[in-house]
Amino acid sequence: MTQPQHGSLQWGLIGASTIAAEHMIGAIRATGGVVAHVVSGNPAHAATYAQAHGIAGHGSDLGAMLADPAIGAVYISSTNDKHRAQALAAIAASKHVLCEKPLALTLADAEGMVEAAEAAGVVFATNHHLRNAGSHLTIRELIRAGRIGRVLSMRVHHAVMLPPHLQGWRINDPAAGGGVIPDITVHDADTVRFHLDEDPEEIVAMAAASGLGEGVEDSVMSVWSMPSGVQVFAHESFTHAFAGSGIEVHGTEGSIFARGVMTQRPLGEITLVTAAGAEVVPFPAHNLYVRGIEQFLAAVAGKGRPAADGWDGLRSLAVALTVRAAALTGTRQRVVSSPVSGA
Ligand code: NDP
Repeated sequence: MTQPQHGSLQWGLIGASTIAAEHMIGAIRATGGVVAHVVSGNPAHAATYAQAHGIAGHGSDLGAMLADPAIGAVYISSTNDKHRAQALAAIAASKHVLCEKPLALTLADAEGMVEAAEAAGVVFATNHHLRNAGSHLTIRELIRAGRIGRVLSMRVHHAVMLPPHLQGWRINDPAAGGGVIPDITVHDADTVRFHLDEDPEEIVAMAAASGLGEGVEDSVMSVWSMPSGVQVFAHESFTHAFAGSGIEVHGTEGSIFARGVMTQRPLGEITLVTAAGAEVVPFPAHNLYVRGIEQFLAAVAGKGRPAADGWDGLRSLAVALTVRAAALTGTRQRVVSSPVSGA
């Protein structure tokens, strides 16, 4: 296994994507990492992308990049259908892997990726950025500190307007992994799991195409039952220009209202309401993606674990797939997180 020095890790990008351009290249560099190479299915796109972002190596030959011993880790941000094969190739080449969500299109594929990484002894992380947000870390602390007593319910509202430059495969290509459920519900699943430290048991849901989706859902509402008895309501959409986002956690002794926190940037506000009144709770405003990479680097150095590891990615995918199954069948569905054991 490649063992790079903390801070000097050389990264290969798999997928010349928007998320890498807008957030991850900068985040890698902010941690002292080097973005050494970008691989795209389209060599001309790789060349243009490399030039635009100051990346020395580029091309469409994944095998050649993975054969370079100087590259210690890869960041996979291709369309969702490609993650599995690319991750397995990187793992086989003993590279550490930071993979975008959803890990794969099926649970069995995701499980194969996570198990392959474990067998190879490489770090495998899922880029669920929200659990790195100062807002969500603070909400989690408020819950843990008992500030709202016993948690009764959560509401997640994550209905946004998909920006025009992202209105490609997400809204019209089921084969590429399009749809709001693999795109946003999967993040909300990870966030709820992060706050409650448990996985949903059963789910009911209804999905819709409300203006953007062509062959995939662009909106979904679902209700999840948690083993502790907590009820979760989640609403995700690509078509809501003015709804804003947020998360509410309601308990026997208080409620947490977090507005504008289901976002890629360190934004929003948290209000804690108890019998004593309403209190605005401050939170750290660090870059979410930088923190995710810092955690990844710590794991690579053997000093911690990724913020969201492969099993987190698998379990959040299991929730998203169950939401979709519940919506498609119109029936209550049990969440199964292991296709092998059925657990
Ligand atoms: P993009 O549509 O920007 O990129 C996906 C792929 O499309 C690229 O990897 C590239 O293919 C191809 N592509 C994009 N632009 C061009 C172009 N101009 N010419 C030719 N091909 C092009 O996707 P996103 O960046 O929005 O999403 C990528 C992944 O990241 C997805 O898995 C998504 O779920 C995830 N994501 C995660 C976020 C997070 O916060 N964790 C936020 C946004 C996305 P090729 O692979 O061949 O280079």
